[in-house]
Amino acid sequence: MSLNRLRCLLIEDEPEICRFLSVTLSLNDWNVEAIHAGRRGLVRAATWRPDLIILDLGLPDMDGIDVLTQLRAWSQVPLIVLTARVAEPEKIRALDAGADDYLIKPFSVMELMARIRSVMRRSLRDSKQAEPRYVTRDWEVDLVQRRIWVRGHEAHLTPIEFRLLSVLIRQRGRVLTHRQLLTDVWGPNHADANHYVRIYMAQLRKKIEIDPASPSYLITEAGVGYRLLEPENNIG
Ligand code: CA
Repeated sequence: MSLNRLRCLLIEDEPEICRFLSVTLSLNDWNVEAIHAGRRGLVRAATWRPDLIILDLGLPDMDGIDVLTQLRAWSQVPLIVLTARVAEPEKIRALDAGADDYLIKPFSVMELMARIRSVMRRSLRDSKQAEPRYVTRDWEVDLVQRRIWVRGHEAHLTPIEFRLLSVLIRQRGRVLTHRQLLTDVWGPNHADANHYVRIYMAQLRKKIEIDPASPSYLITEAGVGYRLLEPENNIG
């Protein structure tokens, strides 16, 4: 096993999923270690310092959300949550607690690897300097001058619309919950004003989407929040 391989800590108690993930990730050049309970998982995260954590929410000894909360007190390691629960509140809690993304069981190898690539790209990007420009197939934003051109024509965004778009661009590819968007754009006192996000998102879509009713950039994650699709998903 190469020492250069990236390390993935898998905290999951179901043997079949552990086997599936270990085989898949090893084939994709990851060094994988599986831990079957939350407390031991936390200890291993601290000693082994993985590059990625995949965390199941249903663990035998503690709630996965508590594992996540404890971990986020000292680590910003990219983390994907696995959940069998279709319930929206669970996904929202995980994202609000600092998960980078989630996968609902059962999931395909393709889906898993795409999510992993996406969180690893974001983590790499976060460690670099902020980019002054963001370019997609249909629009281009100058984040420093706060200007945007949609299919070659300059569009005019209100300060709130621009702020909302900037937050989505900084965290592109990631699902942002209503609460995260409200806190980042409007401030912590507005964390419950979900309708703000809906209203401003609709305005923003009218200004930058070719078909605002069927958006290709500002995607709704039903019941959870919104995600700005990354350019590689938009090209071709
Ligand atoms: Ca489980």
